[in-house]
Amino acid sequence: MNEQNGSLELIVGEQRRRFLRLAGSAAALLPIVAITGCGSDAPQTPPAAASPSSPAEQDAQPERALETAPEPAADVASQALPELELDNPTARALGYQHDANLIDAQQYPQRQPSHLCSNCALYSGREGDEWGPCSLFPGKAVNAGGWCTAWAPRGSG
Ligand code: SF4
Repeated sequence: MNEQNGSLELIVGEQRRRFLRLAGSAAALLPIVAITGCGSDAPQTPPAAASPSSPAEQDAQPERALETAPEPAADVASQALPELELDNPTARALGYQHDANLIDAQQYPQRQPSHLCSNCALYSGREGDEWGPCSLFPGKAVNAGGWCTAWAPRGSG
């Protein structure tokens, strides 16, 4: 333990001497820098001005970051998305309707009355919401009472 302390003191002492040598050299250069103005007419800002001025300010910075942090993904997903347009090419190709009662049973005999977007495996809207996201239509909301030919029962994947 004492041997370690001795080594540590030697290291610290050597670093202190190196620092004092560098500080002395820097001090010697200061008058030269002042005379030449470092080749710029712009006022010189001391480096200390760029850093936070007090520990209290430093502590407050994470709080400011939290105030501007993005909302959690769940909140974003629950925000209202624009409704899927019926003339969306994919929606048309899949025979999507906002109201599954409007689905032509002869054209789409595979559809059962219980098949709705709200119970489709690709739907991620909240229960009770009229509209919600569908993974087939990113950034759009489909109607919970809608349907398309890509309907798949939940739990089948
Ligand atoms: S894939 Fe499912 S949730 Fe999406 S539009 Fe078709 S039926 Fe509705």
